[in-house]
Amino acid sequence: MNPLTQALEASAAAMLPALETIYKDLHRNPELSMQEVRTAGIVADFLENLGSYTVTREVGATGVVGVLKNGEGPVVMLRADMDALPMAEATGLPYASTVTAKDEDGFDTGVAHSCGHDLHVTWLLGAAQLLAQNTDAWAGTLMVVFQPGEEVGRGAQSMIDDGMMQRFPKPDIILGQHVMVGKAGTVGYRDGTILSAGDSLKVRLFGRGSHGSQPQTAIDPVVMAASTVMRLQTVVSREIAPADSAVLTIGALQAGTKENIIPDEATLKLNVRTYDENVRKHVLGAIRRICCAECAASNSPREPEFTPLSSYPLTRNDVEATAKVAGAFKAQFGDCAYETPPAAASEDFSIFGRAWRVPYVFWFVGGTDAATYDDAVASGQLNAIPSNHSPKFAPVLDPTLKTGLQSMLTAASAWLCKG
Ligand code: ZN
Ligand code: ZN
Repeated sequence: MNPLTQALEASAAAMLPALETIYKDLHRNPELSMQEVRTAGIVADFLENLGSYTVTREVGATGVVGVLKNGEGPVVMLRADMDALPMAEATGLPYASTVTAKDEDGFDTGVAHSCGHDLHVTWLLGAAQLLAQNTDAWAGTLMVVFQPGEEVGRGAQSMIDDGMMQRFPKPDIILGQHVMVGKAGTVGYRDGTILSAGDSLKVRLFGRGSHGSQPQTAIDPVVMAASTVMRLQTVVSREIAPADSAVLTIGALQAGTKENIIPDEATLKLNVRTYDENVRKHVLGAIRRICCAECAASNSPREPEFTPLSSYPLTRNDVEATAKVAGAFKAQFGDCAYETPPAAASEDFSIFGRAWRVPYVFWFVGGTDAATYDDAVASGQLNAIPSNHSPKFAPVLDPTLKTGLQSMLTAASAWLCKG
């Protein structure tokens, strides 16, 4: 048996309740992207209290890096993200968030850990603790990285831009995990592409404002936006080959203030997910083409204005390193480790591996109550389970808290433990 997960078994009764307390505190006190000051403080204090880590705060805004040198061996980087989302929580949990804050545009918003990053932080703190307390079971250098701003696609890059590669050892392998809808107790791995590329942009469409009673004096951006939205639906359905796939969602459409005023502009916010660079380029080109053509069709006085909101690269797991992780998972979890299809979600995790040009592996940990999951599968209602970014997303703590700890330790041990 794996010496690290064995050590976890021995100390689980003492460790897990303390980690659960940390998790619930983080869950109750979520912070928006690039503003994770309180969370980062808890993380850095926790690592410092363990005694053996060299802890660096404020790497790329609020990022925290802990390095633990433990003799000759590979450098293993474990990563967690810390930020929450600008949305109100509707889980009804006793430890639900009621926090509000100002978003980047200055608007008041609820704040909630609806992507489960509070769990990622807790898992990595637990793994850091266990590795620090069992240094005789492994050898090498451990680097635990808590990054800000995953949800805005800026956190990993901000750490790199803050000299991460010059200030810290170059990893031999980078490992990360995400809680997802899936049977609790299971882990899903995949070599090659596991997460899509994600591109978000804002498009402003310009018309000419006027009185609602005088359409002949106006160029109506509401109609322009409506036909643009409908035409954009044809990009994936009519321009992408059946064997390829892409998602194009228009998540926001804003225009006007009052029923009898024709506004002078409309704004669309779009999100694109693709699994292939050529498909990505085609979809982004088609969006530009269609927006410009619809504006021309409406006799718009100005070209539309495109502003990128975020861009996430593909997450492509290294084949050889994934085989190593998968083998360790099979030994640890048996049938509860399975090969997952790629998900239409995006991450900035791969930015670290891309920057250092080292292999990385990212995997999923199921967070859905097992009975609920089985019932949903049996009744064909899997899509009804609240997923990440739903206001009702609520991973079940038992056994997910322990499973994520086990999976992180298991994957790390494939590099850090001998034989
Ligand atoms: Zn998310
Ligand atoms: Zn996430």
